[in-house]
Amino acid sequence: MKTVKILILATSALLAACSQQAVTDGDSARVVNVYSARHYSSDDAIYAAFTEQTGIAVNLVSAGGDQLIERVRADGERSPADVIITVDAARLHRAEEAGLFAQTDFSELTATVPANLIDPQGYWVSIAKRARVIAYSNTRVQPGEIQTYEDLADPRWHGRICVRESGNAYNQSLLASIIARSGEEAAEAWAQGIVDNMARPPQGGDITQIQGIAAGACDVAIVNHYYYALMTNSDEPARQADAAAVALLFPNQQTSGAHINVSGVGIAANAPHPAEARALIDFFFTHDAQRMFAEMTNEIPVIADTPWENPTLAAMLPFVEDPRNVSELGDHNAAAQRIFDRVGWQ
Ligand code: FE
Repeated sequence: MKTVKILILATSALLAACSQQAVTDGDSARVVNVYSARHYSSDDAIYAAFTEQTGIAVNLVSAGGDQLIERVRADGERSPADVIITVDAARLHRAEEAGLFAQTDFSELTATVPANLIDPQGYWVSIAKRARVIAYSNTRVQPGEIQTYEDLADPRWHGRICVRESGNAYNQSLLASIIARSGEEAAEAWAQGIVDNMARPPQGGDITQIQGIAAGACDVAIVNHYYYALMTNSDEPARQADAAAVALLFPNQQTSGAHINVSGVGIAANAPHPAEARALIDFFFTHDAQRMFAEMTNEIPVIADTPWENPTLAAMLPFVEDPRNVSELGDHNAAAQRIFDRVGWQ
């Protein structure tokens, strides 16, 4: 495998070296420099398959979502980034606003990728989906007691909800989706209701919330679907047992649809290898790559007819999705953060 992994960029010297190498290699061996905020096994497998099929080597630079954006921005025209990959539509929007993406003609993809998953301005496109859903105790909550996100703001759930902090992009995008469909006032009332109903101050990631239900700290939680699948499919008995204490609910099936968020990709504005960048992006939409998302990270493929096997994920599908363009999540991110601050969601 030719994939070169560089974990968290230490200095720009390292980057310059990376760029230098890419440029030197340009004549003999084709290369694409991938800046990714994802850290999943599926992606390593996809890069390996891409290199095998195309002969294009992948130089992978990994960093946290916001760090990644800052790094490419700081490097400006000297940035060796060809492809930028990040999780969460609001981050994609932030990268777009920072001028990091080249406007690209993704029209070839519209035959297979739903239009609401493609940035209308052509700066980025979604490669995999996730739903932010509701987990509830198998024993302390009856199926049907909750139908919607809105239900969770009801006083009957006082002291019963676990959810992570508002600094987290997933919560920001969920609130942004409520702003998009119901307006800021309704979204603020909802967020206030959730804060009033919290069983404990926000802590940990989504797995922590599911563990909270299993341990009896709370009865209901807001989580991304794949964490539950990850725990269910885990080799660790404790993880499996925690997941087994919990059921997953896809909300708003009769109304607005479950909130979905995405991982997305775009060609960097100053990409030294734009052709290779485009080749990699196209590869993300092959059945080979889409299958790896479903089978390795429990994410939902964006190409609907992709064949894959994962009984845990299959049991969750299909469900009604919020049909809005995911780029709207970025449009309402700042308003969402202001609301979280006003209602005291830590
Ligand atoms: Fe995650």
